[in-house]
Formats: sequence, C-alpha cells, structure tokens
Amino acid sequence: MRSLPPVSFPPSLLDTPRHQGLRAALVRHLSGRGLAAEGRVLAAIGAVPRHLFFPADFPEQAYLDKAFPIGDGQTISQPYTVAYQTALLAVQPGHRVLEIGTGSGYQGAVLLTLGADLYTVELLPALAARAAALFARLGLHPRTTCADGSCGWPDPAAAPFDRILVTAAAPHVPPALLRQLAVGGVLVVPVGPSGGVQRMLRVVRESMDRFRREEFDEFRFVPLRGAGGNRDNGTPD
Ligand code: SAH
Repeated sequence: MRSLPPVSFPPSLLDTPRHQGLRAALVRHLSGRGLAAEGRVLAAIGAVPRHLFFPADFPEQAYLDKAFPIGDGQTISQPYTVAYQTALLAVQPGHRVLEIGTGSGYQGAVLLTLGADLYTVELLPALAARAAALFARLGLHPRTTCADGSCGWPDPAAAPFDRILVTAAAPHVPPALLRQLAVGGVLVVPVGPSGGVQRMLRVVRESMDRFRREEFDEFRFVPLRGAGGNRDNGTPD
C-alpha cells in the first residue's frame, strides 16, 4: 500500500461560509435519507467543495441532492448516489481504488478524502482534461487517464484493485473489471439497460474463481460506453 498524505483542501479556494452552510445542510439531508450510519462517508461529503466540480459557480444547485449537467451530455452524480455507492464500496485508507467514469472528478475527490489510492478513467477527452486540471488545483493527485474504462485500467500491471467503482450504467458486469479485482476486493456497478433503471450490484471476489453478487436499490445513470459497455450511444449490446 502507498502511504498517502491526508487530504486537505486549500483554504484559499472559493469555499465561503455560505457554501459550507449549504454543504452541512446537504449532509443532514443525506443522513435523513438512511445514510446516518455512514459517518466516514458523510464526513467526506461534508469536506469536499462540490460546487468547484460544477462548470460554473451555482452554489444553490451544487448542494441540492440532484445530478447536474457537466457538459458533453454527462452529469455529476446526485450526492445521494455518490454517498450510496461510496458506502457500498467501504474504502479504507490505502486501498487501491479504480473508478470508471471520472466525469467532473467529484466522486473521485470523495474517494481520495477517504484515503483511497485512486486510479480514475474517463472516456471523453474534454472531461478527462478538466477533471485532471481540477484535481491538481485542489492539491489532489490521483492517477488519471482518458481511455475506455469498461476494459479496466489500460496498464494491467496496475491491477489488482481492492475496490472498483463504475459510475455509469453497464448492460452487464464488465468481465475485464472482474479480472482486475483483487481477491477479497469489492466491485460496485449499476447494471441494467441504458435509458432505463439500473440495479446497484456489489460483487465480492471471494477467491480467484468465485464471485459473490449482491443486489441493492435502483438508480438511473448515464450509459457506460465502450467495449464492455454500450457500444453506441445507448443500445445495450
Ligand atoms: N463520477 C462522476 C460521474 C460522471 S457520469 C462524477 O462524480 O462526476 C459517468 C461518466 O462516465 C461520464 O463522464 C462518461 O463520459 C463516463 N464514461 C462512460 N463510459 C465510459 C467508459 N467506457 N470509460 C470511461 N468513462 C466512461
């Protein structure tokens, strides 16, 4: 395991008492939506300035429990969804974590705040570049790349990962991700038709060839594209 410095966001950023108050209210809201037992996850949500991951300064929208467009037809996930997936993932400090779908970088920042050694993949170049620049500005240093994450991290030497999180709707569990999961590792992925609802799955790798699959609530995500996802803009393969 890499030993990682604790995450602290530079105080000079535009994180005003107003933003902080809105963020505290969001944390209270999530706590009331059944996540009260997830103290570490809620603390991370309370620490990450979500408004900085928005394409412009929309302080009110940034702390509503809603998804929001970030460009290129993609969205920053709803805070409840981020908290839910993060809770299922059960990240411990030093875990090697692979995220598929960097998007705005917000979910990645939450994982980094929990001490993840993060690798994050984004398919769309403009989003990948913007998130990489924002991570640097925030003093965060995940490995980022622009690639088809449905095939896993491009350099297989970086595998296996203790945790893998997919933040887009997969038509099935991508086999390449199962191959990159450590024994004892956990994969969280929403599976179902794109454009419809998906079931949140947690897959635990119990041994080299045994995987235990659990089902959780339903969500709506943007489609996972690429070879292990939806090959075109939405039709499951
Ligand atoms: N985690 C993001 C959520 C972004 S939405 C956040 O916190 O903002 C899902 C993202 O997955 C989109 O940015 C989309 O472009 C990306 N995506 C879709 N298919 C992908 C693939 N095969 N590989 C990598 N990223 C993909």
